[in-house]
Amino acid sequence: MGSRRTFLIEAANVRGVHVDIDGPWRELLSSADYPDWVVRWLGQAQAAVALLTATIKFDGRLSLQVKGDGPLRMLVAQASADGSLRATARSLGGGDGMSFREVAGTAAQVALTLSQRRGDDYQGLIALENDTLAGALATYFERSEQLKTQLWLGADKTRCRGLLLQRLPGDAEDDDGWHRVQQLASTLFEEELLSVDADILVSRLFHEEDVRLFDPSALAFRCGCSRERTAAMVKSLGREDVENLLQEQGGEVTVDCEFCHQRYGFDAKDVGALFDGD
Ligand SMILES: [Zn+2]
Repeated sequence: MGSRRTFLIEAANVRGVHVDIDGPWRELLSSADYPDWVVRWLGQAQAAVALLTATIKFDGRLSLQVKGDGPLRMLVAQASADGSLRATARSLGGGDGMSFREVAGTAAQVALTLSQRRGDDYQGLIALENDTLAGALATYFERSEQLKTQLWLGADKTRCRGLLLQRLPGDAEDDDGWHRVQQLASTLFEEELLSVDADILVSRLFHEEDVRLFDPSALAFRCGCSRERTAAMVKSLGREDVENLLQEQGGEVTVDCEFCHQRYGFDAKDVGALFDGD
């Protein structure tokens, strides 16, 4: 199980979020085979959406999507209001040692999409002016939401964690609070983020501040795909196309979930049942 903890530094009017998703991250990687550099950026993206869902009130799913033209061709990381996480990526070779901006490429499109169970989707486009994903997201929140935000993201093959600080709207008791809190957190490097637990990390970074640390909420790797949803997707292709696929694929149409790599197979009898009664 992973966990998310929020905290408040009231005098500075700053909200904080910490996520430790080591467990879900290992589970996600167990069915995938990504090069190290993809693990790093995909994990950071997964930590980022897990952090950001704590800062918005919504019922649905938040997705960070990258359509790249560098070594990273595609990346999707999602977190739902109920704490479900999932992520996937496609890449070419050659991303070792590159910054996020470099792996995504010069014409990359990066978007943050909020899909609500009820109501319209909301999408914001993120400019890649920073080398890091954390920097790009901070710039996005400052510019489009007028919320001063800073993120620290870290991931390797066994660990995946993140920290977010956000200046809340309204006046603070202490005008210099945001600046001071940021200064305190600026000493945080990836190895410390990845190896120190939330309560110790928060008290270590902000020991001079009055911090209210709230109870953790659970985060888990849960794909949410199902045979039923996959069948609906197959059906949407239309009878003729599906029957052609059945021929081409030797009597079974197979669909692999790109997130959890579960394989769903539909033979002639299944396909017949899908379209019967139409
Ligand atoms: Zn799945």
